[in-house]
Amino acid sequence: MLRVEYSDGLYLPELDLWLDADAPRERCVISHGHSDHIAEHRSIIATPETARIFRHRRGEAQMETLRYGERRDYGRFALTFFPAGHCLGSAQVLVEADNERLVYTGDIKLRPNVAAENAVIVPCDTLVMESTFGDPIYRFPPDVATFARLYAAIDRAFSDDRVPVVLAYALGKGQEALEILLRRDYRVTLHGSVWNVSEIYRELGVEFSGAYEKYNREHLRGRVLIAPPGCRKQAMITNIERRYVIMLTGWAMHKSAPYMYKGVDLVLPLSDHADFDELVHLARASQAERIITMHGAPKFAATLRELGLNAEHLAHFPESGNAKTTKKRGTKRASTTVERTLFS
Ligand SMILES: [Zn+2]
Repeated sequence: MLRVEYSDGLYLPELDLWLDADAPRERCVISHGHSDHIAEHRSIIATPETARIFRHRRGEAQMETLRYGERRDYGRFALTFFPAGHCLGSAQVLVEADNERLVYTGDIKLRPNVAAENAVIVPCDTLVMESTFGDPIYRFPPDVATFARLYAAIDRAFSDDRVPVVLAYALGKGQEALEILLRRDYRVTLHGSVWNVSEIYRELGVEFSGAYEKYNREHLRGRVLIAPPGCRKQAMITNIERRYVIMLTGWAMHKSAPYMYKGVDLVLPLSDHADFDELVHLARASQAERIITMHGAPKFAATLRELGLNAEHLAHFPESGNAKTTKKRGTKRASTTVERTLFS
């Protein structure tokens, strides 16, 4: 079976193949455009949507694009992408080599995505899966119930003469939030970074359920503002005297969530990741003989073993390595982990 390693990215040494490396590589497969999955590579392989988003966020690179379901032979291996339901263009990567089918999920959500392709489950021999919410406390309520709570909170804010501010990533959750709000006919105004990505979504063929505006501080009354979570302590938001700030994140299920996000009035469990039950379903339905978990707590692999599956957690760092490299990697990973922890 193929060796699978993690060292500033997922690496298959026998194929000399990098996936989602977070340091520049000669050539790298990119599962999706979130900042913790991309770097300034010389050459990338991605879906056309992810390539477009990569160009927006990282500039030019040599780009090779594969549409979903299109299989391409690279000699020692073949690659095929399948939808991951996480954001527009997000892909699971099927690597076929030596009669083995290895699937790397990237970040994945099995629940329907209102602004992107819905995920599929790809049968394989080896499943390398994210496990961000691999703990039973992260069982999300049905999305429609969360939408209803979001609408009720916004209606309440309007009736109190406040400006509702919804915090969501610029890529992915921002467009999901936009679509959810437009379906209820709210007037929506977008922070520039959310606006830019939403325009790229439209350029790539996504049809939102209504028009939206770009942020203008003179025109906030009667509108819902969508902004990235990092903005919540910035003047753009803190200067809104009568604001009501809503954070959308899977971490809302944690009992300390109401105290984790300073300056936020309400935390709702709307995530672009699979919850615990979806992860278990994915592991089983893949029919994989070998499951490798990453980007989450190691105990999820133990949970899968208790369910009779052959699962191991992939450590982020090799034990070896000189102190300087380890420190550098540790520092980088720590900040990425914080980002994932706060905003997934
Ligand atoms: Zn992501």
